[in-house]
Amino acid sequence: MNKNQNKQNNGNNNNNNFFNKNPIVVFAIFAVLVIAIFRTFSVEGGLSGEANLSSATKNIAYSELKDLIVANKVSKVFIGQANIKAKASDGAVVYKTRKVDDPRLVENLESKKIPYSAIDETNLMADILFSWVLPLVLFFGIWIFLVSRMQKNAGGGILGVGSSKKLVNSEKPDVKFDDVAGVEEAKDEVVEIVDYLKNPEKYMILGAKIPKGILLVGPPGTGKTLLAKAVAGEASVPFFSISGSSFIEMFVGVGASRVRDLFETAKKEAPSIVFIDEIDAIGKSRSSSPMGGNDEREQTLNQLLAEMDGFSSDKSPVIVMAATNRPEILDKALLRPGRFDRQVLVDRPDFKGRMEILKIHMKGVKFADNINVEEIANLTTGLAGADLENIVNEAALLAGRASKKEVGQKDLIEAVERSIAGLEKKSRRVNPKEKKIVTYHESGHALIAEVTKGAHKVTKVSVIPRGLAALGYTLNTPEENKFLAQKHELIAEVDVLLAGRAAEEVFIKEISTGASNDLERATDIIKAMISMYGMSDVAGLMVLEKQTNHFLGGQTVKDYSDNMSQKVDTYVKEFLDTRYKDVLETLKLYSGAIESMVKALYEKETIDGKQVREIIRNFEKENGLESRLTPDKDEKDEDIEKAKSHISETQE
Ligand code: ADP
Ligand code: MG
Ligand code: ZN
Repeated sequence: MNKNQNKQNNGNNNNNNFFNKNPIVVFAIFAVLVIAIFRTFSVEGGLSGEANLSSATKNIAYSELKDLIVANKVSKVFIGQANIKAKASDGAVVYKTRKVDDPRLVENLESKKIPYSAIDETNLMADILFSWVLPLVLFFGIWIFLVSRMQKNAGGGILGVGSSKKLVNSEKPDVKFDDVAGVEEAKDEVVEIVDYLKNPEKYMILGAKIPKGILLVGPPGTGKTLLAKAVAGEASVPFFSISGSSFIEMFVGVGASRVRDLFETAKKEAPSIVFIDEIDAIGKSRSSSPMGGNDEREQTLNQLLAEMDGFSSDKSPVIVMAATNRPEILDKALLRPGRFDRQVLVDRPDFKGRMEILKIHMKGVKFADNINVEEIANLTTGLAGADLENIVNEAALLAGRASKKEVGQKDLIEAVERSIAGLEKKSRRVNPKEKKIVTYHESGHALIAEVTKGAHKVTKVSVIPRGLAALGYTLNTPEENKFLAQKHELIAEVDVLLAGRAAEEVFIKEISTGASNDLERATDIIKAMISMYGMSDVAGLMVLEKQTNHFLGGQTVKDYSDNMSQKVDTYVKEFLDTRYKDVLETLKLYSGAIESMVKALYEKETIDGKQVREIIRNFEKENGLESRLTPDKDEKDEDIEKAKSHISETQE
């Protein structure tokens, strides 16, 4: 019994799938059927009515019919618009022929005294079909086609208007706080929620008001979704999630009713968590959309606000968590007390956090014993948890491709390099002229980095093109874990950035577009020195720019006079000019070292920091120069107890 039912169900499902996937085919079959029926009725049944004779029909030529008339072999003739039918005298057969424009037909019939009449070839059936059913079918077909397409786009569909079955994910995650690393502050902020969800009575008795809405703010891939799931997992409550972006491109009113349903379900299953990912998609402030209001979005937002205001958290402990990486564009109404009044920053992990995240994701992968996680954490400054997870997986894939038994350190490093600068593209051809420019440009960066006090040491110089934009790159790693930069270090960084362009000028004798990013960064550093760090004569200790949003790069607010602005511009330009002249001098002085580096890069495409320093050291010895290299720590470099927190990269 059961088995049979299952079979039937399966059959139905398949049919549904077929209809859903092939609306055009289904419609075509339908149309052909209708046309076939229509034709049957209109042509075959065309001479029905009076001419509906029980005898067989025989198709003949018009000339034959004429002969039959002359020979008196027909008893009655029916003349239609396109066809003529004639009943044989013996009644055994009905002749049928296409009509020919023959004015003498009637004359002939009259002379033979054969009765004749005109008939209407269309009948009622054909009429209905043609003027009613066919257009309806066409209309319906097109409608189904459009709707099925919209269903695909919207994920839900018109047939499920108001039902949130497809868009809302319901689960009971088994994620725990231990699975989320590197975001300790954020975890601290949400632990009390777990307790509340577990023992709501405890708080109710006291009359405590637990926040209803928690907004997780942070760059993509830092674990916002993961953290929300972990709260549900720790409290073992159901987790209902929905993505703000899924509301876009929906019919007006659907979003609002979906929100209503979402909260209804969540309340039924309370205590529970509602998670709204990408809330900025619906919660954008009304003023920030230049194209004017979006009805659907506003209705959805209003419904969400109404739901959050409506449910009193003492009766139904539903916690609403939302995630965004653009908190600044959210409508202020969302952030009011009683709504998302608590904001939790989920930031990119620091060195220690990266170590922990890497370890979490390395658990499921077979690694060699000598893996050095610190080194990987060192190389991945600025990357988010999702990137780190990706790197571990990429390393496993690389090892797999090489048919290794376990994943090694090399695979991890390779994976890091891939994710930092895009896929290594040895196959991409760089024309010789470009290669020459890139080689000198990178050598310039590397040399200045090594001979300038306060600059980050070079770890690697490469002229292998990576990704789409970069033709080469130089990796620099600072020596210590640093949170502060001294003035001379900032200036050193500017020098290193300018060195690419300077090398082009000195050695190629012509400059290229390859330095634009370097110049932009150099300019930014100098501006920051003046306007934020109080490191210039022009503004002294006066702060000209404030960061309003310290995370996510935020916005800066400028606060100074036009007069000052002019002075700053002049200062920045003069500063850059002076630094550039200095760098030019140094490059000229070390031109022999640059040439050796270029030669090595031509041969190997990639050289590491040690080789760069060796080249410079040899050059200095040969030319009797006092060494400007920082005392050699190369060999000690291997023991990694120092936590480097920063990696900077100069491309091209
Ligand atoms: P977000 O929602 O902030 O964009 P996700 O939570 O979707 O980021 O992160 C995607 C994946 O990356 C997670 O499922 C997890 O595997 C990994 N990940 C991200 N951040 C962390 C973290 N802090 N700790 C452990 N894993 C993380
Ligand atoms: Mg997410
Ligand atoms: Zn450069």
